[in-house]
Amino acid sequence: MGVMAGVLRTGLPLVPRRVLWSVARRYVAGEELSDAVARIAGLRGEGFGTLIDVLGENVTVPEQSEAAAREYHRALVALRGCDPRCVVSVKPTHMGLLLDRALCERLVGDLAAAAARDGRPVCWEMEDSPTVSATLEVFRALRPRHPNLGCVLQSRLFRSAADARQLLAGGPGLSVRLVKGIYIEPAAVAHVAAPDIARSYVSLARLLLDGGAFVSLATHDDVMARELLALLDERGLSRGPLEERRYEFQCLMGVRREFAQQLRAAGHPVRIYVPYGRDWHAYSLRRLRRNPEIALHVLRALLRRDG
Ligand code: FAD
Repeated sequence: MGVMAGVLRTGLPLVPRRVLWSVARRYVAGEELSDAVARIAGLRGEGFGTLIDVLGENVTVPEQSEAAAREYHRALVALRGCDPRCVVSVKPTHMGLLLDRALCERLVGDLAAAAARDGRPVCWEMEDSPTVSATLEVFRALRPRHPNLGCVLQSRLFRSAADARQLLAGGPGLSVRLVKGIYIEPAAVAHVAAPDIARSYVSLARLLLDGGAFVSLATHDDVMARELLALLDERGLSRGPLEERRYEFQCLMGVRREFAQQLRAAGHPVRIYVPYGRDWHAYSLRRLRRNPEIALHVLRALLRRDG
């Protein structure tokens, strides 16, 4: 299955969209806001916190960013009746980061202000390495006026420790989602070996926690989670009421639910990421490439279609 998985990973963009949807839908709530709202309500019922993401990235004209922002504002209204604590997650290139920086800052600033009126945090996500500097510049520009805005750091990137120090120096109230990084990066700028990426993750978690930040530990890696739990215990951070904790775990919809359940059962705050929208293709391809059972899933879907 190893060779087959490799071939399928490379050939994924060629898989017909309808077939791909049948395997990708595990990662996506659906195409409509109502699909996300239903999923979020279900997750809340299971005791999980949630994040919402409107799918889309790399827009090519400003109107696409404006339409995406309008969809986020619609989601904010819908969330009032569904999950008052759901975090809103936004991709920089969806808001036009590479197209029109001023427009991007205005759209994200307006969104953060609207979310703040509901007491809701907004997470400014991180994409591939060429976009990192611009993403952090927008974050630094908006942060003083929008304390509910958080950002993401990727442990595979060499630069992240310096970025973390600079963000911590920007004052109290910093909120960071820590991830390994989903984008394949060149060895000139990033760790490429899994143990190095994990080591860097734990060391960044230590740096951010000791610097007083709120840290969202976004991972499904149980070996690494044991080290993270030890860090939290040593610092006495994993005690006390859940809403007063300075950390949470975050997991993706469709990935290792049993891991999220175990953390939740052990008394840790856990949020599940719920993406939705018609533009699910690029996001789903990235997730499928990380799925160890991808070959099986895609082959089954192809056979179902042909059979
Ligand atoms: P891994 O070692 O990759 O995985 C740990 C375990 O989970 C393994 O058993 C693995 O097989 C399983 N697993 C992982 N992914 C999948 C999958 N897709 N399908 C099935 N099993 C899987 N990355 C960014 O670059 N920018 C972001 O803004 C960003 N936001 C994120 C938000 C959240 C809430 C989460 C959870 C992740 C986010 N990521 C983001 C992705 C992240 O960078 C990793 O690619 C992803 O979390 C997988 O890494 P891992 O830490 O779980 O460890």
